[in-house]
Amino acid sequence: MTGENYSFETKLLHNRQKIDSSTGAVSTPIHHASTFHQFEIDRFGKYDYSRSGNPTREALEEIIAELEGGSKGFAFASGMAAISTAFLLLSSDDHIVITEDVYGGTFRMVTEVLSRFGIDHTFVDMTDLEQVKAAIKPNTKAFYVETPSNPLLKVTDIRAISKLAKKQGALTYVDNTFLTPALQRPLELDADIVLHSATKFLSGHSDVVAGLAVVKDEELAKKLGFLQNAFGAILGVQDAWLVMRGIKTLQVRLEQSQKSALKIAEFLNNHPAIKNVYYPALSSHPQHELQKSQAQGPGAVLSFELSNEEALRNFVEAVKLPVFAVSLGAVESILSYPAKMSHAAMPQAEREKRGITNSLLRLSVGLENPDDLIIDFSQALENVNKKELILQQGDLS
Ligand SMILES: *Cc1c(COP(=O)(O)O)cnc(C)c1O
Repeated sequence: MTGENYSFETKLLHNRQKIDSSTGAVSTPIHHASTFHQFEIDRFGKYDYSRSGNPTREALEEIIAELEGGSKGFAFASGMAAISTAFLLLSSDDHIVITEDVYGGTFRMVTEVLSRFGIDHTFVDMTDLEQVKAAIKPNTKAFYVETPSNPLLKVTDIRAISKLAKKQGALTYVDNTFLTPALQRPLELDADIVLHSATKFLSGHSDVVAGLAVVKDEELAKKLGFLQNAFGAILGVQDAWLVMRGIKTLQVRLEQSQKSALKIAEFLNNHPAIKNVYYPALSSHPQHELQKSQAQGPGAVLSFELSNEEALRNFVEAVKLPVFAVSLGAVESILSYPAKMSHAAMPQAEREKRGITNSLLRLSVGLENPDDLIIDFSQALENVNKKELILQQGDLS
């Protein structure tokens, strides 16, 4: 019952975890045991201690491995725990080439933690392969990709980066949080390690913090398994269960949100109060074709820029439907302010260099009727214009 030949949405339900083999339960039991009885003096059973292995966590790990087309999955206490543990595959004097508009927490880990352990890095615009090549050093051991990137939705060619990495004898890490295996499977594009904040689309309901990593290579799987146990930032069983429940509806949630995101992106793109819309589905997006060639869709996150910070503030005050919060990938639409939220860990000068201005908002589209969201945005944008008009009239008098 591994379901290898089923289509993706069927595999979300009909996988090795479909039925609990000991009881027939159709929902994976939550095994709240920290330790397991050893039936023989000299032999451990399959499980001994839950940091090293727990059947509930393992069920989730098997599901994500199967969905990403990997050999082994690992569940962690958060996306950052997954990412940080995967970085422990590196050693002092190694060098990382990393995408410049990386998630703020990853930026913090690389610049303020790994640097203290003698692991060096170079930030590049990963959409420019020449820049990537120029950043390679003899000790480059990892290429770190986030695509589409956060918050500017830049698309990196995973195949091309993986090829460069293989030539260099380095690993390719891909943060696949924005698209999930429903839309993009980096291991099939030759990447080595797929990372997830399962807090986002995979669980999908803003009710759990979790992280996942998946690899294909057996040797790499052993190394990462060793690190998961050594570092110990494992996912608890209740949270593992919540992520598994979320995954069952991943395809329908993401498809619906993506359809709405496209409609909203087009609306914003045609609105005079909006300066820029960043969304790979728009034909004006610089990597529109690349996105189509390596992923099954553009995803449900987009960013847009207003004319200035004042306009942004007026808009956020007037908008009613989306929650204004950090995070993304939930049933409710989430509007966030990258400069002050996800990228607050990045110094302002670094942010502005990357185009993460104080007038940029990111929208993660949820499951509301998109027309309701458009009506809400319309009224909020009218408000922006009105206030600007009043300001302009004020200037005249
Ligand atoms: C949220 C997020 C993370 C961090 O995950 P946590 O679960 O919050 O630790 C990493 N990468 C991306 C792209 C994210 O959106």
